[in-house]
Amino acid sequence: MARLRVLALTRRYEGRTVLDHVSFEVADEEILVILGPSGSGKTTLLRLIAGLEPPDEGHVLLDGQDITEVPPHRRRIGMMFQEYALFPHLNVFENVAFGLRMQQLPEPEIRARVRALLEQVGLPGYERRDVHTLSGGEKQRVALARSLAPRPAVLLLDEPLGSLDRALREQLMGEIRSLLKAERMTALYVTHDQAEAMAIADRVLILHQGRIEQIAAPEELYRDPATPFVARFLDVGTLLEGRILSGGDPAEVETPVGK
Ligand code: ADP
Repeated sequence: MARLRVLALTRRYEGRTVLDHVSFEVADEEILVILGPSGSGKTTLLRLIAGLEPPDEGHVLLDGQDITEVPPHRRRIGMMFQEYALFPHLNVFENVAFGLRMQQLPEPEIRARVRALLEQVGLPGYERRDVHTLSGGEKQRVALARSLAPRPAVLLLDEPLGSLDRALREQLMGEIRSLLKAERMTALYVTHDQAEAMAIADRVLILHQGRIEQIAAPEELYRDPATPFVARFLDVGTLLEGRILSGGDPAEVETPVGK
């Protein structure tokens, strides 16, 4: 059974439709990457699923239950965002333990879970470190541990590696996928970076101007692009090796949604 179902989700800002009847399913333990140019509606889609803003139309179902009206903190949906700062006044342990304390788990259980997670993200023994002494990559690892700690039913990740340099991103892509798989997590992962999408995804959803162009496994997207946009979008990235040659981002070539 699908863990998450999104039905005709629609969002308008000032009369402009930025998400247009988007429907898809995410299977239990699946990593679905949402790939699209900047302005295509990726972040808006995650915000609606998380409940941070209401849809104008449509529904979100978790394990068959309609959660469209359920407040964010009761949805069993975790989030990790690029700009999602760690609590600067709390050490690493307290940052990771935060969601567990909200669940009022017994202290020994919290300690064991935090220790195991820090080991899994490659930061064993970091419990007492101050957050401001960590590198960018270390901060993102702690943020990942924190979002996994309460075992959400679904984890939403919005450009989690966006602020890191390329070498570190490439290293962390593989690590994130392994970790999500080890935790048997169902995840939606937003990026505009094709290489990142293909490295992380079980399936990729290509979003363009608030609509789904295609949902398919990475190899199928290249073999059998469903629309001219998909063919063009994927080719541009591959041909230019965009990020490397220009230092720029082929996705930025695309103009934002305008209707
Ligand atoms: P992406 O994450 O793919 O870059 P977004 O979901 O952030 O795209 O944005 C989709 C479109 O919606 C963009 O054109 C953006 O300018 C617009 N948008 C997003 N949030 C708001 C808002 N709060 N008010 C008005 N327009 C918005």
